[in-house]
Amino acid sequence: MQILKNVEELISYRRSLPSNSNVGLVPTMGALHKGHQSLIQQSVANNSHTILSIFVNPTQFGPTEDFDKYPRTLQKDCEIAKSCGVSAVFAPEVAEMYPNNDEITLHPPKNMGYIFEGFIRDGHFDGVLQIVLKLFHLTQPHFAYFGQKDAQQLLIIKRLVKDTFLPLKIIPCPTIRDVDGLALSSRNIYLSATQRQHALEIPQSLQYIKELINNGTEDAKTLIKSAKQILKNVTLDYLAITDYNLQEISAIQPNNSLVLIAAKVGNTRLIDNLWL
Ligand code: AMP
Repeated sequence: MQILKNVEELISYRRSLPSNSNVGLVPTMGALHKGHQSLIQQSVANNSHTILSIFVNPTQFGPTEDFDKYPRTLQKDCEIAKSCGVSAVFAPEVAEMYPNNDEITLHPPKNMGYIFEGFIRDGHFDGVLQIVLKLFHLTQPHFAYFGQKDAQQLLIIKRLVKDTFLPLKIIPCPTIRDVDGLALSSRNIYLSATQRQHALEIPQSLQYIKELINNGTEDAKTLIKSAKQILKNVTLDYLAITDYNLQEISAIQPNNSLVLIAAKVGNTRLIDNLWL
């Protein structure tokens, strides 16, 4: 497995791959857990070469967010990557990815990018689009793997590919959870034992919505109201039911519904969702 630290090395590595090889890209911010590993495993299973990027991207963090304290565990991440069969890890410094101060930036579609995460985290998706487009250009993947855990991000990146005619396919990967139900996240390490118990209200509320739907409840307001009763020890940012274009809907539509939740537990902000 190669460890590439700068753009030049990545470009020459990519050029060295045979033209008939299939390349999979897995973009991450590192501190790898089993959620990331499932993306990597899917890429390794379906491509001759998998490039894993590890980059804590400053432009997607707001000024009061956790960019400085975000966990950075590169050595351990490389061991995991190697054991999963990754061909190359791309782990650049910030100056390598952002050599210019005042760059061209992209914005998400107005009706998708400024609600939910985009409303609370000003400029977040501009930063995501900026880094993801750079990674796509540098690695020229055939397939790029993204988690359903970050539903809004996944849907906006799909639009990036569609709107700018990028020659690659986005592969959505299911959310991996801990045994207690909490969706794996690099931010879970911030939680104390008590906070973790409180955080479980997030997946429990989603599970409750699923049960109510299975028992015949379709009305979105009723589902949201019922689920809110479970959310006693977290500070809710939003709990919403939308279609796959992120537009709120009044009743569940099979194969076209998303339940989105974001809540704070202490200072830690967690997101989760349900694809229906
Ligand atoms: P991050 O390092 O948080 O930027 O995540 C990198 C990629 O891993 C993104 O596509 C995430 O959606 C995905 N991911 C993060 N957590 C999980 C999880 N628990 N299950 C599946 N994918 C995940």
